[in-house]
Amino acid sequence: MRLSGRRESSYVEDRRGSSGSGMRMSGGKKGGCVGIIMLAIGAFIWWKTGDSTMFVNNLGVGQGTAIEQTTTTNSGGSQYNDELKVFSSRILASTEDIWTSIFKQNGMTYQKPTMVIFSDAVNTGCGSASSSTGPFYCSADQCLYLDLSFFSTMKSQLGADGDLAYAYVIAHEVGHHVEYLTGLLSKLHQQMDRARSDAEANAISVRIELLADFYAGVWGHYENKTFQSFEDGDLEEAINCAHKIGDDYLQKSAGYRTINPESFTHGTSAQRMKWLKLGLQTGDLSQANKILTCSESEL
Ligand SMILES: [Zn+2]
Repeated sequence: MRLSGRRESSYVEDRRGSSGSGMRMSGGKKGGCVGIIMLAIGAFIWWKTGDSTMFVNNLGVGQGTAIEQTTTTNSGGSQYNDELKVFSSRILASTEDIWTSIFKQNGMTYQKPTMVIFSDAVNTGCGSASSSTGPFYCSADQCLYLDLSFFSTMKSQLGADGDLAYAYVIAHEVGHHVEYLTGLLSKLHQQMDRARSDAEANAISVRIELLADFYAGVWGHYENKTFQSFEDGDLEEAINCAHKIGDDYLQKSAGYRTINPESFTHGTSAQRMKWLKLGLQTGDLSQANKILTCSESEL
């Protein structure tokens, strides 16, 4: 991507080095927590804390706690991480501009989310989380949480490298914020709470995730249309990333003997690629409704 000279978002909070210490949690707000990658498979990503169940339990049905007080410590990571921070802040700024414009055209006001950059562990409005959860969005505090080392994990362990692939990850979490602002996220989380089986709840989760992929694509469409920022190979990198984080692909990579579609929470590689691509190609938001209403076979 060509991003030189582009503005950085001011809605970035750098909590690297604080590792969640100095924070006080209190009950109150309700919200849900949604990531980009299926977490049951998280075991093959990497472990700094070795705690997988915590976030899996939080996923989709956040337990509703709010941060009352935070301590911000900028530990100034490596130069590479600082470059990634600038990159991420520019992508976030682009999502702000594009979604502000889209909301305005639809008579709505876009409220910007905050991107919290952390390392190792973080306390959020949806509970505490470790880096092993991957990037995620918490609707209770309207924040995206990102450990920059996830990008290295994408490259080395998922085989999903490239700046548009990284941008897709951020745009996907922003997509969840758009779902939140439009009221869809709460509605779908309520449906998940009422589901009679895990399989039924997972099927709703898949639609939440595919919609975020589609919104990420819509952002990409207008990003390139406005700034001509895409370079050769960028689109392929983003599509490759969607392929590599499909639930079926992850289960196969993790050595599952049988693939279990009922356990999918984010969609297959084919589905993730399809909806991301459609958003990128058309930028047509009227297509979003299909993700919510079509039959499973049409997803
Ligand atoms: Zn997601």
